[in-house]
Amino acid sequence: MESVLVTGANRGLGLEMVRQYGEDGNWRVYACCRRPGEAEALRRFAATFCDRVSVHRLDVADAGQIRALAAEMSGQSIDILINNAGTYGPSGERFGEADPEVWLHVLRVNTVGPALMAFSFAGSVGRSSRRVMATVSSRMGSLSDNTSGGRYAYRSSKAAANMVMKSLAVDLAERGIVCVALNPGWVRTDMGGPQAPLGPEQSVRGMRSVLAALRPKDSGRWFNHDGAEIPW
Ligand code: NDP
Repeated sequence: MESVLVTGANRGLGLEMVRQYGEDGNWRVYACCRRPGEAEALRRFAATFCDRVSVHRLDVADAGQIRALAAEMSGQSIDILINNAGTYGPSGERFGEADPEVWLHVLRVNTVGPALMAFSFAGSVGRSSRRVMATVSSRMGSLSDNTSGGRYAYRSSKAAANMVMKSLAVDLAERGIVCVALNPGWVRTDMGGPQAPLGPEQSVRGMRSVLAALRPKDSGRWFNHDGAEIPW
């Protein structure tokens, strides 16, 4: 049985990842969230797929919690690590509006979190057979796609997260770990809102296909949920 670790697994895309990998039947799922006690939908999945899904407390903005969970799981192998947890920060943020403290928090969650996860879990991923690390980025982090400006905190955090994945791809190549950024599309979640064209089911199905097909040559690249490569 292969294994996958998902951060931000209590709602939105992360919860759908747990549902799909759990239903698949061939995956051991480590589902991480900030407040397991309040994660009712996730705990229902864990009860349904009892021997295959476990819930773990993890705030990705807390380096101590990341190190502690990695130490607790140091005996496990993790085939796919998915940095899914993310925060948008202030919506509609325009020129001159950025709050530095909020911006730094967004960077801590969206950019520093995935890097610290990779540093702490490289051993567990490295001893698996698939050896994949993925971060759910956003097209809003694309330099070439930015024609509408604004959203300073979120855009910069996702552009920097892409660079984190690129450096990880270089640094972890000799361990055979494939590191990629993903784009889920615009999806109907709390973050994406009700007007988004894609449902979580379709987006996650696409990202799972991309992850399943990854080869060493794909490391350091950025893929859309439909498999198309995205320019930085
Ligand atoms: P949601 O807002 O629905 O869910 C965000 C998830 O991240 C929640 O589980 C939330 O947990 C978790 N999270 C936030 N901060 C932390 C933290 N410090 N530690 C651990 N978990 C945290 O968003 P989506 O499901 O839509 O987004 C998932 C990913 O996809 C994000 O990285 C997002 O940037 C990206 N994305 C989404 C798009 C969309 O259209 N939906 C488009 C492009 C990218 P909690 O409940 O505790 O807050």
